[in-house]
Amino acid sequence: MSKQPKINTSPKSADRIAKTTCYMCACRCGINVHFKGDEIRYIEGNRDHPVNQGVLCAKGSAGIMQHLSPARLRAPLKRVGPRGSGEFEEITWEEALSTATEWLAPIRAKDPKKLAFFTGRDQSQALTGWWAQQFGTPNFAAHGGFCSVNMAAGGIYTIGGAFWEFGSPDWEKTELFLLFGVAEDHDSNPIKIGLGRLKDRGVRTISINPVQTGYSAVADDWIGITPGSDGLLILSLIQVLMESGKIDVDYLIRYTNAPWLVIRNPGQANDGLFLRDSDGNAQVIDHKTGKTVAANKGGMTPALKGEVKVKSGGIAVPAFTLMAEEWMAADLSPEATEAKTGVPAKRVRKLAAELAEVAFERTITIDQPWVDWKGDKHDKMIGRPVSMHAMRGISAHSNGFQTCRALHVLQLMLGSVECPGGFRFKPPYPKPASIHPRPAGKPDQINPNTPLPGAPLGYLMGPEDLLVDDKGNPTRIDKAYSWDAPMSAHGLMHMVISNAHAGDPYPVDVLFMYMANMAWNSSMNTRGVMEMLTDKDPETGDYKIPKIIYSDAYSSEMVAFADLILPDTTYLERHDCISLLDRPICEAEAVADAIRWPVVEPDRDVRGFQSVLLDLGARLGLPGMTNDDGSAKYKDYADYIVNHQRKPGIGPLSGFRGNGNDAGRGEPNPDQINRYIENGGFWSKHLPEDALYYKHANMAYQNFAVEMGFFDKPEPYTFQIYSEVLQKFKLAAEGHGDIQPPDHLREQIKTCFTPLPSWYQPFEDQRTKDDDFPIFALTQRPMAMYHSWGSQNPWLRQIHGHNPLFISAELAEKHDLSDGDWAWVTSHHGRIRVPVAVMEGVNPNTVWTWNAIGKRRGAWQLDEDAPESRKGFLLNHLIHELLPPKGDGLRWANSDPITGQAAWYDLKVNIEKASPDEPEVVFPDFAPQQSPGGLSKPDQTLRYGLRIIEDEKKGGTR
Ligand code: SF4
Repeated sequence: MSKQPKINTSPKSADRIAKTTCYMCACRCGINVHFKGDEIRYIEGNRDHPVNQGVLCAKGSAGIMQHLSPARLRAPLKRVGPRGSGEFEEITWEEALSTATEWLAPIRAKDPKKLAFFTGRDQSQALTGWWAQQFGTPNFAAHGGFCSVNMAAGGIYTIGGAFWEFGSPDWEKTELFLLFGVAEDHDSNPIKIGLGRLKDRGVRTISINPVQTGYSAVADDWIGITPGSDGLLILSLIQVLMESGKIDVDYLIRYTNAPWLVIRNPGQANDGLFLRDSDGNAQVIDHKTGKTVAANKGGMTPALKGEVKVKSGGIAVPAFTLMAEEWMAADLSPEATEAKTGVPAKRVRKLAAELAEVAFERTITIDQPWVDWKGDKHDKMIGRPVSMHAMRGISAHSNGFQTCRALHVLQLMLGSVECPGGFRFKPPYPKPASIHPRPAGKPDQINPNTPLPGAPLGYLMGPEDLLVDDKGNPTRIDKAYSWDAPMSAHGLMHMVISNAHAGDPYPVDVLFMYMANMAWNSSMNTRGVMEMLTDKDPETGDYKIPKIIYSDAYSSEMVAFADLILPDTTYLERHDCISLLDRPICEAEAVADAIRWPVVEPDRDVRGFQSVLLDLGARLGLPGMTNDDGSAKYKDYADYIVNHQRKPGIGPLSGFRGNGNDAGRGEPNPDQINRYIENGGFWSKHLPEDALYYKHANMAYQNFAVEMGFFDKPEPYTFQIYSEVLQKFKLAAEGHGDIQPPDHLREQIKTCFTPLPSWYQPFEDQRTKDDDFPIFALTQRPMAMYHSWGSQNPWLRQIHGHNPLFISAELAEKHDLSDGDWAWVTSHHGRIRVPVAVMEGVNPNTVWTWNAIGKRRGAWQLDEDAPESRKGFLLNHLIHELLPPKGDGLRWANSDPITGQAAWYDLKVNIEKASPDEPEVVFPDFAPQQSPGGLSKPDQTLRYGLRIIEDEKKGGTR
């Protein structure tokens, strides 16, 4: 971390400065909150903090208005009118928690899976997932399934980690940086700081993205690819690199499974599996002796060529042979892919040459001795200074998992993973899928009044780990880990309401959600979801989803659709922990975690959701939350953070354990939170110098990881270019093995579960006709907003008060549209009327807009005529959670068939100019919604800022 001047913390500038962690997006920057008397006056970046080093973005500084929002809920609420009406009455916490307990206890006693517990952009998943496990329901997940699970799972299954929380570019040493599908402000301050460093050193940045805004706008080069075709571009790049011999063969042999022998025995049960010895070790051919040996044997070099006979039938060849056969195919040449990607063949070849030049002509060598896991000593660390970052743009497609895997394979072909100048893991990653727990929730694991034997989310390694009954029916409401989406590591949040409403695979009794605005911007088919939430059984007159409990800090659109509201605090009013058990704030060279703490006490009858969850857990008698005498084990979340141990010595926070000097492992320390507060709200520990690179294979790092409690024993591993896990599912689809998919899914599994990354046309594109819907449509988060709560924040509303549909000049000319015109946009599912803005720098056949700015009229305590609801819109109205029917009577999810990732970016549309006599208001225009439970009706003036100025006039200071 670079040295920065110390901030002025003298009482002149503030009466008090409290250091905590921002929550205005998911970056978790350190912030200094300045107080004058009891009032927050100013938020600035914490210059000592590892994430942001003092940098603060617009969102972060506007946290002050988030804290003062008139839409904050003020007390627990019970619905008294019909669902959706917004008619509630305030109740006490005792009544709220007793009601929730009365609803949940019988479910747990009879069939715990009848509780569906799902959370949104929740930063306490280590707690919420554990709570679901203790309750005994498999029906838990957070927002990952509708965000970027393809990125996370594609990374974990290939290299043991992915981008963002899992790793980052080696900003100080990289010489070429590529961004694939990264939203304009994703991973906000860290990437901005990194890009600043690259600019200082004159390092070239290339962005591959259909839209040239944000990071793409400041990149040196922009490639405006056609949505959904990134996998094709990546495979073309791999082909050009292989063709020209510009791949790091030594790296592939040493660190990847390219030399592992794969059995070829077409039509047989062992086809495509690794050749293994009796101990289960994958086999390779020793280059020197030509003999077959275990891949983990030291002192030999595996061959990338050759063939051996397999006793049980067939032959075996190195995976590299299959890689060459697959990826040298004519249909992956740049000339063959350019029509689909929109990237000219010449440009692809130029990009491949740039990658090769930087990787192989500008090699970095660090004189740092290290020892690998086989005991071989190395006197240098060698790096290929090409780094990459990717996110939702390439992953939120039905082919996204394979695309994400392809991108990691491109990195591996260049030898640029976990090396100087390349992509570097952040502890506790790398961590391969094989050492993550398997998901719990098999039929015999779900029992009355019994916790699940493990966490509901995990990584499966083959059909034997699926959560299905003996007829193949899913045990989870979202059908995660079933044949519909076998490797769905983050669940399928976008399918929960639709499946619960349809009773498919079964109905639920209680839907319990936290921070998930499912009645608006967090759902596909928004109108349909509102109807499902309010739909009643015609015979009984009961709601089809019988009970809904919802917790949020704000009166979002979802509040009106719940039966019981548990009001949360703002992020400045509660304890939180940014834990190594969840998604920590580590850097490539340091382990780190952080806290939030109540820098200001709530002035309303609200409670932090995590404390409420622990209280509810104790009332329900959940093991782990209850003492032997039935009393609550934890007073509140702070007590849990300090005293909970996931296993002996390992708790939510890694710093200041034991007597205050232990790190990673250690007894609970009653003074731990105070120590974090004194330290600026975070803790960090630097990695040993010989552990900084090659973490997956470096014994110094592996030993450090054991010392810190990431693993109980060293867990070195080999990067998985060829995925045997995918092949096992493919074999099952071909009819091998006892656990078989339903017939209607066989073809899809055979096509999509290829053990080497491949590309297939996104499903919506396959199911719609280009003549009807010729244009791709996308959304991305705006730079100044992250959560849907941003567009009710008075400071941020001044930056984005509404969102137009951005279209290319080509489309504008074709459809006779100019800036400020209105257009109808139609998909297979719906039709919306929106304002239009014409821009350069967008793929000519793509339209896009910012998501989550459009609000339902009256929600969030906004004025009914607020621009967010008159000129702000959601593309969600055009997207369905199901694909267009194909006449087989089945419901096909609009998701990646491997992970279940919501395919938001597969949307195809048509546009048409609105008639000049139509109203200039977005359509659909829903009836105004009451904002239940908010503090007051909106005051749209910037009164808070004015008050400060008034204070200053009177001689006060900020
Ligand atoms: S980048 Fe995110 S976490 Fe950091 S200051 Fe901005 S909003 Fe807060």
